[in-house]
Order: sequence, then C-alpha cells, then structure tokens
Amino acid sequence: MADLAEIISGINERIHEEADWGVPAQYIPELAGIPADQFAISVCTANGRTYSAGSSHVPFSIQSISKVFALVTTLGRIGDQLWTRVGREPTGTAFDAISILETDAGRPRNPFINAGAIVTTDALLSGREPRQAIAEILGLIRAMAESDEVYINAKVARSEKETGARNRALAHYLLSHDNLDNDPEKLLGTYFHQCAIEMTTDQLAMSGRCLADLPNAPNVISRTHARRVNALMMSCGHYDASGEFSYQVGLPGKSGVGGGILIVAPRKASIAIWSPGLDGYGNSKAGTRAAAMLSHQTGWSVF
Ligand code: GLN
Repeated sequence: MADLAEIISGINERIHEEADWGVPAQYIPELAGIPADQFAISVCTANGRTYSAGSSHVPFSIQSISKVFALVTTLGRIGDQLWTRVGREPTGTAFDAISILETDAGRPRNPFINAGAIVTTDALLSGREPRQAIAEILGLIRAMAESDEVYINAKVARSEKETGARNRALAHYLLSHDNLDNDPEKLLGTYFHQCAIEMTTDQLAMSGRCLADLPNAPNVISRTHARRVNALMMSCGHYDASGEFSYQVGLPGKSGVGGGILIVAPRKASIAIWSPGLDGYGNSKAGTRAAAMLSHQTGWSVF
C-alpha cells in the first residue's frame, strides 16, 4: 500500500478534478444553500495517527450519522429491549419512506431509517427531559471523539422543525401503532437537535475509533455493542444504497444528508468523509466515490 497521506491527498485532488458534486439536501432550508464543491477526509489509524486532507476542520451537520450515536446511547440504557420495537433488516426503500412502515405494522425495520431512529430516540427520551437525552448523546460523542468542541447548530434544528412534515407523519403513524411513548412534538424536537449536531471530519473519525476497535480508542462502548452497530451500518447504513456501498466499499458506513459518512475499517482505521452534495439516495455523491477509492487503494474492504 502506498503512503496513506499520499493516498488521501490524491483522493482530495481527484474529487476536485472530477467536480461531480451532487446537490445539498434541499428539504432542509438551512442546508440547501451550502456550496456543494467542498470535500474533507480524515482517517485515524491503529498507530494512533490522524491523516486528513481538504476541509477537515470545517464543522458540518452530521444528520443521520447521529443515529449511530443515539443507538449506542439507547443500547447502553435499555439493551436488547430496543429490539422489541425496531428491527434489524435493511429496507430497500428511502430513509424517510412511509409505505414500508405500513407494511411492517408500525415496527420500523431498522434503527437507521428515520422511523427507526425516531423510535430509538423515543426509547432514550422516556424518563428524562429532551435536554437530558441530547446531553447524553452529546456526552457520548465528546467522549468518543475526545473533544469537548462538539455543538448543536440551533438554526439547522429550527429549520428542520419548521419543515419536518414527513417526520411528523412518521411519528404519528408510529403513535397510531402504539410504538411511541412520548409526545410527538417533544420527541421530534429532540430528534431534530440530535440531527443538528455538527462535527468536523477530524472529530468524526476520532469518534469512530471505538467502533473500529483501534488500540488507542477510549473505552466507552462495549465490544458487543460495537460489533452489532457495525453489522447494522454494513447492512442498513446507506438505506436503499446499502448494498451498493457494501459492493463498492466493503466496509460498514453511515451516511447523513449533511453529506457526511462515517466508515469503519475494523482494527485498521476509522474514516470520516464529507462533501455536502448528495446523490438520489440522500448519500454524499463525492463522498461515496472517495470511500470507494480509499477502500480500493488501501485494500481495507472486509471481503
Ligand atoms: N434529519 C434528517 C431527517 O430526519 C436526517 C435524514 C438523513 O440524514 N438521511 O430527515
């Protein structure tokens, strides 16, 4: 394998040359106007180093990547009880699909589609106030990233609250099936704030070290939970493009409509990539290409 620093700077150059950026999330007004031609990549390796290229110090909206942290927090709280309310199978439908929830009688198929993440956050919220639930998720992220400089962008949270009709529909459908314990507005307020957490790729890659089981990672997640979360990232982390991500990259990954991707190369590296333009599945267009290049050039695919 060539030198990792060279590989990463080569990918950064190639992504800018190709200039095939996609379109930032249009349904969240605060994200819609972000310039698409931005790219960042950070890689934490087993020897304790972080390699970065591009805008790796620019905080971006982690959006659905927060579902990974919310899942870890909730599993830590209630363990396997969560699985009575959420499944562990991929959907083959969009992240915010409504139809599949009807087919599945109000039990979301996995914790990474919106309906499943809403139920996961609902389970965490029971018995505590929104600010406590959010503080738990943020606290976990800060511990995993070993950085206190991780914050919520209140404007992004408000922007989503004002336009979140689809998520409201999902929440009310879950309620009709008795699969919500909390008031939908209170719950969605919590969910929108969790999605509005901002991180840089440097911080996000640092946070993934626990999932990648790197030797210098802080000891904040049990191995059992890390293994299970990785399995779900592999099968469900990119919604109806999860099969293609697995085919092209061969590593567990979780995307968000902010254009971020967290990728785990077990015992080798934790990788974060950001480019805000999305493809038709709501996954970062240039980011997915970069992930495939990195996996190809490093041979880190688990297959
Ligand atoms: N906050 C976004 C939503 O609920 C998260 C979706 C995503 O990142 N795929 O629609």
